[in-house]
Amino acid sequence: MKILVTNDDGIFAQGLWILVNELKSIAQVVVAAPDREQSATGTAVTLRQPLRVQKASPLVSEVETYSVEGTPADSVILALGKLVKNKIDLLISGINQGPNLGDDVLISGTVGAALQGYLRGFPAIAISVDSVDSLHLDNAAKLAILLAKKIDANTLPSNIFLNVNLPNLPLSEIRGAKITRLASKSHTDTVEEGHDGKRKYYWLVRQKVNGDTDEKTDIWAIEQGNISITPLHT
Ligand code: MN
Repeated sequence: MKILVTNDDGIFAQGLWILVNELKSIAQVVVAAPDREQSATGTAVTLRQPLRVQKASPLVSEVETYSVEGTPADSVILALGKLVKNKIDLLISGINQGPNLGDDVLISGTVGAALQGYLRGFPAIAISVDSVDSLHLDNAAKLAILLAKKIDANTLPSNIFLNVNLPNLPLSEIRGAKITRLASKSHTDTVEEGHDGKRKYYWLVRQKVNGDTDEKTDIWAIEQGNISITPLHT
């Protein structure tokens, strides 16, 4: 099995390499990821400037690794269009350190990268842990292995595009896994104003919306301590 791994937290992110380290035991893994933090770049694609790529030293030995000066979506387009020789069996984007729930999938670089695999006919999974200080990335890596094995065994449809989120809990405290739909609202956005002595500046500030009461949504599932698996494919 051949798996392409990318992310939006950048090529040095811990989540990416924990994932690669696990996947390596069941698959040939290729990494193509942005050379820097690219969270919240959504589906952005670079069309008005050239893209540059470097072969990079992997943080897990013997993994073909490319560092892309571009967005997460650029990384996948470039990998599938040029860098990766043979056909892949699966694209996994993550493990993102931070949730990608509800309408946030529309600005998520993690999901935006997975979308490019799906659009090219490959099974695609975006995987995230619900904390920026992700202490339990290992559960997500193990879940990725389970899903990859199912795809390899053809027990899942080949045209899947899944958005997976895990609560930031030890395995013993995770209640179960729910197949969910996207909640309608994940954040409220406000604009804060400051002054640097010369000019005004603004910060876009996001605040999590809590308490989704619809039991079919991803936010509800996570808040209740469940893994949320949301099919995004049509
Ligand atoms: Mn991110």
